[in-house]
Amino acid sequence: MKDQIPILVELSRADQASSQIRERAQTIPKEILRHEQDLSSHRRASEDLENKLEESMRERRALERDADQARARRREVEVQQFRVKNQVEYQALTKEIEEMRRRTSDFEEKAIEILSEEEEVKKEFEKLTELLQQEEERFNEIKTRLESELGELKSVVDAAEAKRQELVGKLDPKIRQRYERILRSKGDMAVVSLVDGACGGCFYQIPAQRVGDVRRGTLVICEGCGRMIVGEDA
Ligand SMILES: [Zn+2]
Repeated sequence: MKDQIPILVELSRADQASSQIRERAQTIPKEILRHEQDLSSHRRASEDLENKLEESMRERRALERDADQARARRREVEVQQFRVKNQVEYQALTKEIEEMRRRTSDFEEKAIEILSEEEEVKKEFEKLTELLQQEEERFNEIKTRLESELGELKSVVDAAEAKRQELVGKLDPKIRQRYERILRSKGDMAVVSLVDGACGGCFYQIPAQRVGDVRRGTLVICEGCGRMIVGEDA
């Protein structure tokens, strides 16, 4: 029995260390995902702004084309007007010239309005693009760092797993079963030490005779929590 206790102690340490590392390892992919989601929401904002900018440019160009057409039509009518002799026809053309002039200036005014809004959007878009670029660089750095940490943690867990296999191989099958059962039911640790005469897991006061057993190196099971009490903390 005595030779089993150091193995139990070592096994419990290895299991605790590997459980902490596993917990940390599980948070890493979530952390990466969270950063990724932040970045994609900023990317979407930038795409929205880019679409808005393109739409505004299309609208402005259409207005500029309309203004050009109205201007061209006005010139056509002006040329036509030189040739007419009839007063009624002349007046009709004057009216059309006025109308075309009015339309040209309306279209141009609207185009200028859109252009000034467009310049604001463009400034905003450029600022966001620069920020996004910085964020992407930062994200790539964070991701690389977290992935390398994850790789390191995985190799530590693998080593702990190998160590565990080696240790459980040395345990008496009955003690091993008992250890595994306690570990599963407690979730944290199956092996604790005696602290001031009490169980280090649940602080249940251990009877004096059992304390003596622990000190003599006998495996004692705590009546309070069912954990294995091995050794004593000074
Ligand atoms: Zn206990």
